[in-house]
Amino acid sequence: METPLVFNIQKYSIHDGDGIRTSIFFKGCPLDCAWCHNPESQRYYHELMFFDSRCTGCGACVARCPQKAVSIVDGKAVTDRNLCNACGVCTDWCYNSAREVAGKTYTVEQLVKEAEKDRMFYENSGGGITLSGGEVMDQNMDYIEQLCKTLYDKGYSVDIDTCGYAPYENFQRILPYVDTFLYDIKAMDPKIHKEFIGTDNQLILENLIKLSRDGAKINIRIPVVMGVNADDAFMQDVISFLKENSISVTQVNLLPYHNTGMHKYRKLDRAYLKEEEMGVPSGELMEHFQALFVENGYSNTNIGG
Ligand code: SF4
Ligand code: SF4
Repeated sequence: METPLVFNIQKYSIHDGDGIRTSIFFKGCPLDCAWCHNPESQRYYHELMFFDSRCTGCGACVARCPQKAVSIVDGKAVTDRNLCNACGVCTDWCYNSAREVAGKTYTVEQLVKEAEKDRMFYENSGGGITLSGGEVMDQNMDYIEQLCKTLYDKGYSVDIDTCGYAPYENFQRILPYVDTFLYDIKAMDPKIHKEFIGTDNQLILENLIKLSRDGAKINIRIPVVMGVNADDAFMQDVISFLKENSISVTQVNLLPYHNTGMHKYRKLDRAYLKEEEMGVPSGELMEHFQALFVENGYSNTNIGG
């Protein structure tokens, strides 16, 4: 069984479901959101991250790289990404912690053990474990099912944070073990979806309908991005879709866009595309959208996670 990569385990998380949770972030996502604030989550393979400000230009990485992928330019290490295979050798020799490899494998047992360290916090707060990404539903589902089942059998609440873009059979496999699906809706217009997110949204919306019909507990999460979806027409479209399809919604979370992840693109030598086209919504606008959902019967609508 191919083991998925994990790029982060976030403890004491209070924005990824009820109570205090441990969020496990899997690496790799079928979508390509222009505003993604975790670009290291997007690809399914290991990636080298370089922290420019920590590099002293000592050259230790140049000497140790088996691929001869690194050189020093203007006093800083520069990596040829075409040569680098993210083997991680250089990270052991950089005493300034300027180099890291994103992506680590764990056995199911190791992840469960890690999650269990905070059992007391879950019990006291009504929390649990959230599997996130990247996209957890587009990983090796034998592994994910085993993880969900093991946690469930031990009595933990398991939430799934998903973009919804995966075969529905994957959802069906874990449905019995999941407490809540944190389900993203990013654009209703397929063209806008394609432009800013990389695919159309048909599968995502179909899966949402099926999940609701199959009795899943669903929190809708909407990243609100100026220039993409921060308008009444989109919010009304979402409300109409939820009502017309009788989607059973426990909570709506409106998540204002922020660009604090921009610097991470530089660490991967990637460009932050469409930056000019996207913006941060004002607090007033977020409150306006919140009121719109509340007026339409979604009284449990919050700004933020
Ligand atoms: S080993 Fe670290 S500090 Fe030295 S040149 Fe390489 S990245 Fe920079
Ligand atoms: S991760 Fe491996 S291949 Fe890439 S620069 Fe470091 S040592 Fe070279």
